[in-house]
Amino acid sequence: MSDEQSPLYDALTSLPGAVLLYDRLQIAIASAMHHARGLAVLVVELERLSLVEDSFGTATREKVVQQAANCLRAATRADETVACLDEGRFALVLSGFANAQQIVTRAQALLSQITRTQSVNGHRLAVAAGIGVAVFPRDATVPDELIRAAMGAVEIARTCEENVVRYHAEDMEARSAVRLDVESRLRRAMTRSDLSLDYQPKVSLATSLVSGAEALLRWSDAERGAIAPNDFIPVAEETDLILGIGSWVIRRACSMLRERTRLGYPDVPVSVNVSARQFLEQDVPGLVRDVLDETAVDPRLLHLEVTEAVFLQDNGRATHMATALKEMGVRLALDDFGTGYFCLRDLKNLPLDYLKVDSSFIRGMRGDDRDQAIVESIVRMSHRLGFRVIAEGVETEWEAARLRDMGCDEAQGYLFRRPMPEEEFACLVTAPVSRRGSAVERNLLRSA
Ligand code: C2E
Ligand code: MG
Ligand code: MG
Repeated sequence: MSDEQSPLYDALTSLPGAVLLYDRLQIAIASAMHHARGLAVLVVELERLSLVEDSFGTATREKVVQQAANCLRAATRADETVACLDEGRFALVLSGFANAQQIVTRAQALLSQITRTQSVNGHRLAVAAGIGVAVFPRDATVPDELIRAAMGAVEIARTCEENVVRYHAEDMEARSAVRLDVESRLRRAMTRSDLSLDYQPKVSLATSLVSGAEALLRWSDAERGAIAPNDFIPVAEETDLILGIGSWVIRRACSMLRERTRLGYPDVPVSVNVSARQFLEQDVPGLVRDVLDETAVDPRLLHLEVTEAVFLQDNGRATHMATALKEMGVRLALDDFGTGYFCLRDLKNLPLDYLKVDSSFIRGMRGDDRDQAIVESIVRMSHRLGFRVIAEGVETEWEAARLRDMGCDEAQGYLFRRPMPEEEFACLVTAPVSRRGSAVERNLLRSA
């Protein structure tokens, strides 16, 4: 029996059936996770097939389905899947998307190809179709739920006018338009220096002295005003913009450090956030080496913050990069610790200096002993592994005191200072002025 005649394949179209679809979708999900690329499941439904049958007979209806199958096959790559769910309904697993807009464009292109007027058994037929789209990982993360989500979307498409693409998340098209707008504004911002860095001090909990600062990216758009990093970093990450922005941030922070040294200010290490995409795709050690050479900044003053996502699907490259950076003298911090799916066993192999406990645990500490227990355990574990611990988002004296009791090394948060522009930060760690008179406030004005 040939493959095409086996029960795994649909007899009419020779396309893989549901069993193979699940299998291939499973593999595609693993690959999408590994390469951090987008994946979409599309359910394509041919409409008015019974009308075709009633008007032109079974042979013509079957031919319409076969031609649609051929059309879908021709419109997909060899590493993508087109399967037949039942007569007139197909499922496609499409991959390699860098952003939501690419999925929208692809689905629209497929729809216009499949609904092109065809010549079938001597009849000119305009085929109607609907497409339902579900996106991994946003809509679902396992095969059957993804397929169910795309089926749900195609059912809605059926109730609409003919030939529409429907998304499991209704707002997908609107969101992708917003993203395109952010992307084009961001491109302009990069050429017009609308980007800047704020600095937020980190404080040693034992001495209440400034132990460093985190550089946080700021974007002021001429029309929209300030745009928060959480609103534009994900867009930049979906495009190559993050690579240019990431390089700019490292360069800018090092220029600030060089200027401080030139003016004779005390040394304060500055940490820079590096996106997972930048860390996995760019030669970050090479970039850092160039910038440190250009600016003659002491590598120990540059700290890089990366998130767990960097090491989640690590095939050795991320650890290799991290080690190369450490060998140069640059310090590494694991940011937002506790929010990802990182395997604790892997933590011991990472060449880290700092672990930053995510602010959600600090917020949860008040009134919840369990969050306190988690933070306390993270502090102990980190110390045993040789990492220093920084608490993020510390807002109250009580949190600071509790963290100090737990042996947490450093803290960062609105209790001490909000992120501030470069000029203000330079004054903060040099001029001894007091505010509110607390020990922390007084000491904050001197650097460690
Ligand atoms: P993050 O690296 O975890 O930075 C800490 C965030 O917490 C900052 O938000 C900071 O302003 C905020 N924060 C600090 N103290 C407190 C507090 O006491 N309470 C509360 N509620 N929030 C506090 P921001 O500046 O909006 O940045 C958000 C995220 O954007 C950052 O999280 C980081 O992941 C990303 N980001 C910022 N700048 C850069 C950058 O230059 N490159 C990259 N790749 N990502 C960046
Ligand atoms: Mg950070
Ligand atoms: Mg963080």
